[in-house]
Amino acid sequence: MSEIETIATLASHSALQILKGAKQEGFRTLVVSLRKRLRVYQRFNHFIDDIIIVNDFREIVDKDIQNKLLNKKAVLIPHGSFVEYLGIENIKRIEVPIFGNRELMVWEYDALKKLELLEKSCIKTPKLFKSINEVTKPVIVKFTGAKGGRGYFIARNAEELLRKIIEKQLDTSQLIIQEYIFGTPMYFHYFYSPLLNRLELLGADIRYESEVDGIRRYPYQIENYTFTVVGNIPLVLRESLLEQVFDYGEKFVEATKKYLPPGAIGPFCLEAICKSNLDIVVFEFSGRIVAGTNLYIDGSPYSWLYFDEPMSTGRRIAREIKMAIEMDSLNKIIVR
Ligand code: AMP
Repeated sequence: MSEIETIATLASHSALQILKGAKQEGFRTLVVSLRKRLRVYQRFNHFIDDIIIVNDFREIVDKDIQNKLLNKKAVLIPHGSFVEYLGIENIKRIEVPIFGNRELMVWEYDALKKLELLEKSCIKTPKLFKSINEVTKPVIVKFTGAKGGRGYFIARNAEELLRKIIEKQLDTSQLIIQEYIFGTPMYFHYFYSPLLNRLELLGADIRYESEVDGIRRYPYQIENYTFTVVGNIPLVLRESLLEQVFDYGEKFVEATKKYLPPGAIGPFCLEAICKSNLDIVVFEFSGRIVAGTNLYIDGSPYSWLYFDEPMSTGRRIAREIKMAIEMDSLNKIIVR
């Protein structure tokens, strides 16, 4: 594999953090931006060297744009908007190197495969109910294609679930009926370095969601509310939780090594609820950088435990790429 000189990504999600980190590590940087967003990214030309303008992110699969990226010796860094805007089929067609293991994106994209991988990791997950009749406790209902909590709803029992499904005219084959876990949400930001064979915890956050996080302002009972992510709030964990958090991270990495070799590469996130008995139950994962890491563009209380310098997840990605170039091991961090 030829050397990497440029770190590139799509202008969205955590692009600013990624590119700032890449610049700190001495790379050239490039962003692929929608015309309408251009002015945001132009403001940061002290760390963004090049901008490729598109009208639709899917243009990135066009030959001329790919050639531009290949000529710049670019590596693309995937983030939350990557799969959402490009689609898994387009990602498979991209010739430009992509940081990480593309197969993990495939598993992440499919809601059922995603839950399967968590189960294979042998970490605690919410019970799944295959049919309405099986429901014996409160449930949260998700859609196989929904993004960022949009459209989720809660039902206290099978009867209420059936009523809501009829009211909303939903197709039950598209629903994931999951046990509702009582507790507090927590999102753990990990980084697995195949070069150092080390799992790092780089931070944690809570998602700020409308309307569920605002209902305490309204003194009446509400039956239906939304879980649309609007921001992120920083979190440090009770230290006694760390053992479980590292254990879960390690189990997840082991499962990815076994079922989609060579396994997880770089950042991933386990999305969980911590119960009052301090048991952690994981309901989702993201196999790439999450937007909650934007909180720690200057490092987090956890990244300081590994690095005596500000280390965002974006910068950590660039550091791994730099190390891979020095060790002549790019094949360990860029896997088709
Ligand atoms: P997600 O889009 O999957 O990250 O989740 C959106 C929201 O639903 C978050 O507030 C989660 O905390 C909540 N949530 C998802 N799954 C569960 C669950 N099994 N039990 C309780 N809350 C959940």
